[in-house]
Amino acid sequence: MDTLPLQGELVLRKLIDAMRKKYVDERESYRKYYESEGYEVVFVHELCECSRKRRYSKLFPEISISKLLKPHIIRGELIHLALENVSNMKANVRSGKKVKINSRNFLIAGSVDLYDENRRRITEVKTVRSIVNTPFEHHILQARIYLWLLDAMDAELWYFASDGIKFYYIDSSCTDDEIREIIKNPLAPRWPQWECDMCEYNQLCELKMQGIK
Ligand code: SF4
Repeated sequence: MDTLPLQGELVLRKLIDAMRKKYVDERESYRKYYESEGYEVVFVHELCECSRKRRYSKLFPEISISKLLKPHIIRGELIHLALENVSNMKANVRSGKKVKINSRNFLIAGSVDLYDENRRRITEVKTVRSIVNTPFEHHILQARIYLWLLDAMDAELWYFASDGIKFYYIDSSCTDDEIREIIKNPLAPRWPQWECDMCEYNQLCELKMQGIK
């Protein structure tokens, strides 16, 4: 009996395989394809976080993969899947935009959680610890970059927490200049108040270990 997996374990296995495909494998093959075409691929989430994380995720892919096993990440994915089912909107809409900076060709790419094509409205779904009055700065930046990327009208952030659910509205797209500035000025960390404490690489990051950040 104890050698046979439980149904729950099998479903969890399937879910984690699907998450790995979506968040790791597909992104990497997209990156490889466009790199072979001469582009430096930057995903939207990378513009919204510490620039060192990209280096560490390349060096230690196991750490990013192991993040997928965390219960709050799995719970978040289940909420995403449920909303994809009931919202009647397009899910995981991939988009890319080319930007040239000093003869370097960049491709900014990302997938929005939900997209209402008629209203050209983006929705990003977030699972958070608890509900706050205003959305987090990195979530606002991400929504604004998606507005720029898809030339969309506006965006909603949907927050799900154990103490409530809240929806926020955002309509200020990033400009071309802002995107260029973010690419030209990588920050480590990007959000000094909290990012290192929450970072999955903080036990090997020399900036954190030396107490610089
Ligand atoms: S610990 Fe801080 S500086 Fe280091 S990679 Fe993480 S966020 Fe960046």
